[in-house]
Amino acid sequence: MADATVIDGKAFSETLVQQIAREAQTIADAIGRPPALAVVLVGEDPASAVYVRNKIERTTKAGMRSIEHRLPPTTDQETLLALIAEMNADDEIDGILVQLPLPDQIDEDSVINAIAPEKDVDGFHVVNAGLLATGQESLVPCTPYGCLLLLRDHLGSLSGLNAVVVGRSNIVGKPMAQLLLRESCTVTIAHSRTKDLPEVCARADILVAAVGRPEMITGDYVKPGATVIDVGINRVAAPERGEGKFRLTGDVDYTSAAEKAGAITPVPGGVGPMTIACLLRNTAVAAARRFGVSIGDI
Ligand code: NDP
Repeated sequence: MADATVIDGKAFSETLVQQIAREAQTIADAIGRPPALAVVLVGEDPASAVYVRNKIERTTKAGMRSIEHRLPPTTDQETLLALIAEMNADDEIDGILVQLPLPDQIDEDSVINAIAPEKDVDGFHVVNAGLLATGQESLVPCTPYGCLLLLRDHLGSLSGLNAVVVGRSNIVGKPMAQLLLRESCTVTIAHSRTKDLPEVCARADILVAAVGRPEMITGDYVKPGATVIDVGINRVAAPERGEGKFRLTGDVDYTSAAEKAGAITPVPGGVGPMTIACLLRNTAVAAARRFGVSIGDI
């Protein structure tokens, strides 16, 4: 099989953000202010700080208002919940995102479920998870949402295709499987206890890897012609770039998988840029729904 088509998530996300910026303008015209996203960062985790900075930059570029709360690493749960309650009640805030992970003294589930579901732009609230699972209108977790948009763009209808999702986390694997089921795929969710994983994966027309293990999914796991979506973002040592240097790699061994796949997302430049674009889209959707503004579907 010839080398796979590269699914360019970076280019796709740039076009998407232009569309979202137009939606943000439509909302601003209707309600007298742009959609607003509040981001909360607790502590000083360097990776989280980078993600938050990117999110803020992209929010502003898309013509939305960004509100930032930085809390010290010693923040207690009560203080964080009080801030969330304040933002839930603030009519000028449309989306609330609390950057994970949180320090050990704070229970993540309690925080996620304290966010008003209609402002939960990460889509992690149990109400949004339940709405998605029952096929109702919800805010959808950004990373799986981004994967779905790439798949639809590349394949058109997904109906009847065999999809295998490797990983069953609440933020990627499970919602990804729900979205694929909603598209009428036949869905298998694989995980660390799955038997004969390469053989299970090799039945997939759509293979989504969300494992957190660098380059684990090799060409042996890929059905010829399959579409491979690599969600993984792993920092691995790259001594060839100099001492102490790192590179980013996915959960898929790109070289061997690309020899078998029909299409594949690269890392970086695949799913990653779609995640932030979908966060902006969720913010626009949250604002539009709360104020009854029509911005259509993607
Ligand atoms: P989690 O660690 O929460 O989940 C990993 C899943 O992979 C678990 O379900 C686990 O199974 C499964 N797994 C682990 N080892 C194996 C194995 N050897 N064989 C089969 N399954 C295995 O990770 P996340 O879902 O949060 O993230 C997954 C990846 O996606 C990570 O690389 C992360 O960095 C990346 N990510 C990327 C984002 C983006 O924007 N592109 C956003 C979010 C995550 P079990 O449940 O049995 O333990």
